[in-house]
Amino acid sequence: MQNLWDDNEAAQYRSDLELRVYTSRLLGRDKTLVLHGGGNTSVKLAQKNVFGEDENVLYIKGSGWDLETIEAAGFAPVQLEYLQRLAQLEALSDTQMVNQLATHMLKATAPAPSVETILHACLPYKFVDHTHADAVLAITDTADGERRIRDLYGDAVVIIPYVMPGFDLARLCAREYPRQAGANTIGMVLLNHGIFSFGDTAKLSYERMIDLVGRAEDYLKRERAWDSPARAAAPARIDILDQARLRSGISAAAGAPMIMTTHADTDSLAFAQREDLRTVSQQGPVTPDHIIRTKRVPMLGSDVSGYVREYKTYFDEHAPRAKEPKAMLDPAPRMVLDPGFGLAAVGRSAKDAAIVAELYQHNMQVMQRAQALGGYCALPARELFEVEYWDLEQAKLKKSGSPPVFSGEIALVTGAASGIGKACVDALLARGAAVIGLDINPAVETIYQRKDFLGLRCDLTDEHAIESALEHAVIAFGGLDMLILNAGIFAATRKISELGSSEWRKVMAINLDANLFLLRACHPLLKLAPRSGRVVVIGSKNVPAPGPGAAAYSASKAALNQLARVAALEWGADGIRINSLHPNAVFDTGIWTEEVLAQRAQHYGLSVAEYKTNNVLKTEVRSRDVAELAAEMCGPLFAKTTAAQVPVDGGNDRVI
Ligand code: ZN
Repeated sequence: MQNLWDDNEAAQYRSDLELRVYTSRLLGRDKTLVLHGGGNTSVKLAQKNVFGEDENVLYIKGSGWDLETIEAAGFAPVQLEYLQRLAQLEALSDTQMVNQLATHMLKATAPAPSVETILHACLPYKFVDHTHADAVLAITDTADGERRIRDLYGDAVVIIPYVMPGFDLARLCAREYPRQAGANTIGMVLLNHGIFSFGDTAKLSYERMIDLVGRAEDYLKRERAWDSPARAAAPARIDILDQARLRSGISAAAGAPMIMTTHADTDSLAFAQREDLRTVSQQGPVTPDHIIRTKRVPMLGSDVSGYVREYKTYFDEHAPRAKEPKAMLDPAPRMVLDPGFGLAAVGRSAKDAAIVAELYQHNMQVMQRAQALGGYCALPARELFEVEYWDLEQAKLKKSGSPPVFSGEIALVTGAASGIGKACVDALLARGAAVIGLDINPAVETIYQRKDFLGLRCDLTDEHAIESALEHAVIAFGGLDMLILNAGIFAATRKISELGSSEWRKVMAINLDANLFLLRACHPLLKLAPRSGRVVVIGSKNVPAPGPGAAAYSASKAALNQLARVAALEWGADGIRINSLHPNAVFDTGIWTEEVLAQRAQHYGLSVAEYKTNNVLKTEVRSRDVAELAAEMCGPLFAKTTAAQVPVDGGNDRVI
């Protein structure tokens, strides 16, 4: 466990609140201590109120802030003595507690105080640090965890048995701390939950955390429970249709499309192939802090219906009866383990799925160490569901509002590196979809660095390259819901009498053949789309109104148009909709080089500026205009439309 305190760095933080920010960030930087908004810290300060009177205030981490990036504004100031009085109450419901915290804050715009606020208020130290350190959990999450913690720490820590986070836990700590604490106490261990350290300076409290967790790491090494046995017994077997079926089944259970990311790395695979997997994985998570965010229910099985069936049984057996939730959380699993493919993480967005995977990767590490130490032993499932349905979590969910229209869905765009394709990527990302962008230009791989975008260099005239791209897409996101056929080339103007066969074939290969390959390869995936598959074909004005000198281009787009119409007929029974857009004169695209633009303008006897707005509405049509309509065609507005051909050309008198 590395102590990250740096005197030079720390010197920039002067006040106690600033130092609180500094050491909170140090904790946040170590992912074995806290993950994704987990953990919390506080500082108790004396300050003057508007009447000039002294007031004691607890600055506690607010919800929505991550320790790694927290700022002073991320701490909620709450009246300290009032919190300490609350801890003396016999009972306080979750909703009452939330209300009490919110009404005793000293800053109207502060974030909601942590659910562990009252607990922090009861500890008689200026600085309090709390983490869900992996090493400590690996020790407490065993059958004789309490004894091991006592052996390890002696009288350095107060030990609290597991109680669900909230008022009852705060009240228990308020009672237990003075009973157990002595001259040597520097921390507090919450069994199956995490660890606290405290001190009168930010540095002391932080260093005590590092010291305590470091001791836990050394203990695990001493007990030969540190190194994972990680080596998969068999190589990964990933069938993309099976993965897409699994995603489809999970989405059905969730009642909404879900993103599913497959992780077949060595560690995940080795874990999924453990002989004791059922014992280890079918227990709860390593800390309630993790279940709150992931609602993880790992499952085993060999087919999708098996997964879903097994999950439903699990849910029916364990769902709380006495405390029936009003708004039920979706019952779909967030995690699937399989000896063939390793681990699949599920979320409403690619970002959520990535968080689930990261949480589970830490869980796997902790579970394996606890198992090596003497047997992993998590919270009973009943406790987990209580946490899941906890009023506070419900409140948080309600606040989050309705998700974007393509949330949980996956779109593939060809020719994505520039022009209309790039604009389609933007329009789909903006509507919440995860997007795979294909392009022959390797620049596509780096146009975005975000969890919900995968850019792949791909030669669409190569069938194997298309298959490989789809494999990557399904591993990254779980399937395919929308397909935007945009890639195309516009060769130099050439009369038929001068049109070379190889030039003709090249245009046909890219504008037509590649789209057949794509449609054929994507069909089984589109069939499995939870909200039915959608295809948008970027056609051309040249379909209804071809131009002289553009024989190859016009013929290829007309053939593509016919291909799309046949696909609409053939795939209607699968619920797949295929609509076409016929843009014209969109000049901010890859195919319109200065040279081509000048040639075409000259051909019509116009200046370049006149040529750009040469339509009935005298308006310039941009990539974004086409892309927005393409995205809308995948949405609910066009739910009952297939085989439509819509012009996006400002009105063309030859077409009209
Ligand atoms: Zn906690």
